[in-house]
Amino acid sequence: MEKSCLECGEKLLGRADKKYCNDHCRNAYNNKRNKESNQLIRTVNNRLRKNYRILQDLNPEGKTTASRKKMADRGFDFSFITHTYTTKKGSTYYFVYDLGYLPLDNDYFMLVKRTA
Ligand SMILES: [Zn+2]
Repeated sequence: MEKSCLECGEKLLGRADKKYCNDHCRNAYNNKRNKESNQLIRTVNNRLRKNYRILQDLNPEGKTTASRKKMADRGFDFSFITHTYTTKKGSTYYFVYDLGYLPLDNDYFMLVKRTA
């Protein structure tokens, strides 16, 4: 099977496990890939940081309730969390680091802070 360089697409001759025509192409490819994953990580970190600040602002005392609208109006993005925690009774809390929320009825959430 004919293979081509991952960076420039040139046909590759020689060893079967070769992926690039030369060091230049290998470095260019890896730099590009690292840059892309760094940008992705930065974007996710920024969204998590923003979500965290919103939870801090809305929940300074460590326990309160807030509506979905109130959170969304501040820019809270429900698709960015760090983890979930499900209690023995089956309630699932969604966390951004140590600040979390539990969905209640009518689009309300209980905001909590995990105690150490
Ligand atoms: Zn190449």
